[in-house]
Amino acid sequence: MEKLTIRDVDVKGKRVIMRVDFNVPLKDGKVADDTRIRAALPTIKYALDNGAKVILLSHLGRPKGKVVPELSLKPVAERLSELLEKEVKFVDETVGEKAKEATENLKEGDVLLLENTRFHPGETKNDEELAKEWASYAELHVNDAFGTAHRAHASNVGIARFIPSVAGFLMEKEIKFLSKAAYSPDKPYYVILGGVKVSDKIGVITNLMGKADRILIGGAMAFTFLKALGKEVGSSKVEEDKVDLAKDILKKAEELGVEIVLPVDFVIAQKVESGVETKVVKIDEGIPEGWLGLDIGPESVRLFEEKLEGAKTVVWNGPMGVFEIDDFAKGTEEVAKMVASLTKKGATTVIGGGDSAAAINKFGLSREVSHVSTGGGASLEFLEGKELPGIAAILDKKKLSRRLILAGNWKMHKTIREAKEFASMLVNEMKEFKEFEIVIAPPFTALSEVAEVIRGTNIKLSAQNMHYEEKGAFTGEVSPVMLEEIGVEYVILGHSERRHIFKEPDELIHEKVRSALEHGLTPILCVGEKLEEREKGLTFNVVERQIKEALYDLSAEDVKKIVIAYEPVWAIGTGKVAKPWQAQEVHEFIRNLLKEMFGEEVAENVRILYGGSIKPNNFLPIIAQKDIDGGLVGGASLKESFVELGKIMKSVIS
Ligand code: PEP
Repeated sequence: MEKLTIRDVDVKGKRVIMRVDFNVPLKDGKVADDTRIRAALPTIKYALDNGAKVILLSHLGRPKGKVVPELSLKPVAERLSELLEKEVKFVDETVGEKAKEATENLKEGDVLLLENTRFHPGETKNDEELAKEWASYAELHVNDAFGTAHRAHASNVGIARFIPSVAGFLMEKEIKFLSKAAYSPDKPYYVILGGVKVSDKIGVITNLMGKADRILIGGAMAFTFLKALGKEVGSSKVEEDKVDLAKDILKKAEELGVEIVLPVDFVIAQKVESGVETKVVKIDEGIPEGWLGLDIGPESVRLFEEKLEGAKTVVWNGPMGVFEIDDFAKGTEEVAKMVASLTKKGATTVIGGGDSAAAINKFGLSREVSHVSTGGGASLEFLEGKELPGIAAILDKKKLSRRLILAGNWKMHKTIREAKEFASMLVNEMKEFKEFEIVIAPPFTALSEVAEVIRGTNIKLSAQNMHYEEKGAFTGEVSPVMLEEIGVEYVILGHSERRHIFKEPDELIHEKVRSALEHGLTPILCVGEKLEEREKGLTFNVVERQIKEALYDLSAEDVKKIVIAYEPVWAIGTGKVAKPWQAQEVHEFIRNLLKEMFGEEVAENVRILYGGSIKPNNFLPIIAQKDIDGGLVGGASLKESFVELGKIMKSVIS
């Protein structure tokens, strides 16, 4: 799923809270290696150059929820200031009065770094209050910290429950390359795995087995496989309890036609130390007891080179030996060179983070490959095919490909005169809002006159109800033909007040939806559970029934045109707004249900609005949710607050 990036939104004048990964090594109160700070510069500079007020959040080390002065980000602020060649404000508070005030005083182009996020115990617990507090400092969240994407923390995941979250450039690049490797590699696709433990890589092997044509295994984990094949591995590191697992993997690979390539010789020694006696032995001759394999040997290097020839995609995760000691670094260095040379020949090459990133850096080849991931655990989990919480929280591009809607249901309010006056005010105040649809639903009596007021503007007209027949003996009812004649484009159907006060059954609502579509009107189909239904855990059942009964016999083409409004009955007109993620949960459920019933294309295109006590002070986190495509507003649509809601909507999507 493609994600929205900072490029997709307008940051001018906005307070942007950016999660970066400044988890850098410090020495004598100074930054010892600024690679990670440099990696975040493109996004920070972009935001500053485009007039944002930037607030930076990062963790450093593992202070375990306490203030540990040695892990302060102050030295990072100093280094960042040198790199940006401008002042970087620093507050020695993660949250609180001082932090808030500093964010409020920011001007366009200013940058502020707050203190280590992990000084607060709520960060790693994804604490709701902490996330809400950070969210209150800004209008937009930018996530550029891929290294923590596999963790659901307050500064990357929790905060996205309150304000929209988009990806920074580093995050975008990580997703692009890792997705290609994990989901759509060009063939032939070869994977090189190393490192110590099979158990660390089991998820990756299992996931990539179905996709890769060949898996080359080096590092100490190779010994567990060699032992499984009955080879003598001497005193080399073996995970005894994983030997059976290794056997299973080898068997599965054979079944799937994936070639597993193991080293044929090793550099061995009696101690893991520099300068000790070393020998090269062939594995078929066996490694003697008391000796352990610490690097792949020259024949293995040649074999790996042969096996990698012609690759179009290569993923490398884990070193071939103890590369930190030069005596055992040759195998890893040669593999690094192979990967670099394949890149030159046009292959896409991706290096997992952690040790393999350190290795490629050590050999000065990090610029010679397509991508070196900045996340160790995160890149592994990505390659395992898992959904990373830090990425899931970023808004999908799809959200903006659906045109959002702000709809106002005036219910039984406003006389014709009042309606005309109010509509004129909206025309005036909302004329700049071109990025989303604005729909108003006055009472029947005012429809014709309001239609005149809004003719030719960006405001569209909706009715609040209709009968399904074109004409007939239906006292007090209004037909779709009558609405069409006025210029009505939308019609609210199945509103909870119609369902519960006027006892409209599902079957009747179904007839109305069908008829609206036949007459070219867009139904806004309302669904939602009552409080007692929610309390009994029946929310999904109720919503599923209402949707199925309303849409069961419609074509996918027709359903694509419908707008659905999820309106929990307990939130309508009560002042009790659903928590944004409570609403998101149901919206996601509805989208999945539509997918099941009508396929992916319909599910991705249908707009699902939230309704229930929307007000300017609660709208932003609602509209920031990835499956919420706008709001159906009652009370707050009768006043100037409707214009305020429009401004909030605009801030999210432009
Ligand atoms: C509504 O009537 O659809 C509605 C959501 O009302 P309110 O915003 O007043 O809760």
